Amino acid sequence: MANQENEIERVKCLIIGSGPAGYTAAIYAARANLNPVMYVGPEPGGQLTTTTEVENFPGYPQGIDGPAMMEEFKAQAERFDTDVRFGVATKTDLSGDIKTVEIDNGKKTIEAHTVIISTGASAKWLGLESEQRLREKGGGVSACAVCDGFFYKGLEVAIVGAGDSACEEGSYLAKLCKKVHMIVRRDKMRASKIMQERVKGMDNIEIHWNTETEEVLGDDEVTGIRVVNNQTGEKKEIPVQGFFVAIGHKPNTDIFKGQIDMDDVGYITPVLGTAQTSLPGVFVGGDAADKHYRQAVTAAGTGCMAALDAERYLAERGLA
Ligand code: NDP
Repeated sequence: MANQENEIERVKCLIIGSGPAGYTAAIYAARANLNPVMYVGPEPGGQLTTTTEVENFPGYPQGIDGPAMMEEFKAQAERFDTDVRFGVATKTDLSGDIKTVEIDNGKKTIEAHTVIISTGASAKWLGLESEQRLREKGGGVSACAVCDGFFYKGLEVAIVGAGDSACEEGSYLAKLCKKVHMIVRRDKMRASKIMQERVKGMDNIEIHWNTETEEVLGDDEVTGIRVVNNQTGEKKEIPVQGFFVAIGHKPNTDIFKGQIDMDDVGYITPVLGTAQTSLPGVFVGGDAADKHYRQAVTAAGTGCMAALDAERYLAERGLA
């Protein structure tokens, strides 16, 4: 029955999204005989497929490439017969006992007793051609200081943004790097006072107020940035080896809007200490519900929680 088009298929456990949360949920659900079906979504493997080396996931003492690590997650999920499929969930009705999820604009419909949402979040970028070119090359552009800061130990870097993330990541970088240039587009920061004070109190952070990035310089690797003061029009080049962007993330939850509880940005708000969303039978793991930690290992942890909660839900109804 599986993999035919225009059909309705009923499953016990549907997992939407294929980052560390989705694959960990799949491993647990498959080992509990829930026969999970996973749709990998528009970015198979999730955000880690856009990073180079991952050094902070336990179990890889030598580090591992992000895409290679996600292949290992996939192999482990498939070892226990998770049905991993290409396809994007495009419409959902999660309200009843049987949840309906359309794949690829109605090419296929899945009816599921439980749904695990692991659709993640996407980092926002400035959108400069030079930023994206160097990011794709792995040439020193990153949206995650905790993931990539270590590679710039003792070097000079820039970070864009003025929210709590930029302040937190800026001070993280300042502990590793020789100097951090913080590029702030207004004359004030959005971050909480305590986070602002933290960056202002660090000797090796220089804040460039009213400043915007025009270009990330470098052919294959970042060599600097050209910035412009948006009050005076003055331009200058700052030599840096790393360019970090911390201007926010967007959770990939648009297709669930109006159906389950989320905050005003779109992060799903599960019942505290669980993976249970506001709808029975619908669970969430990973960055779709996490604006604070955003780590592969925390996503894996909450993915596990989602599968265990789904298993209990099904068992209580005699379905597992
Ligand atoms: P925010 O949306 O709070 O801040 C984004 C920042 O990026 C703002 O300073 C904004 O500037 C700037 N920005 C946006 N677009 C651009 C652009 N194109 N060019 C330059 N700058 C830009 O996102 P965060 O990720 O910082 O935080 C998200 C949420 O997570 C918040 O609620 C935050 O409090 C929370 N959080 C809490 C933490 C903690 O408590 N430890 C840690 C991290 C996050 P402007 O102000 O001018 O709009």
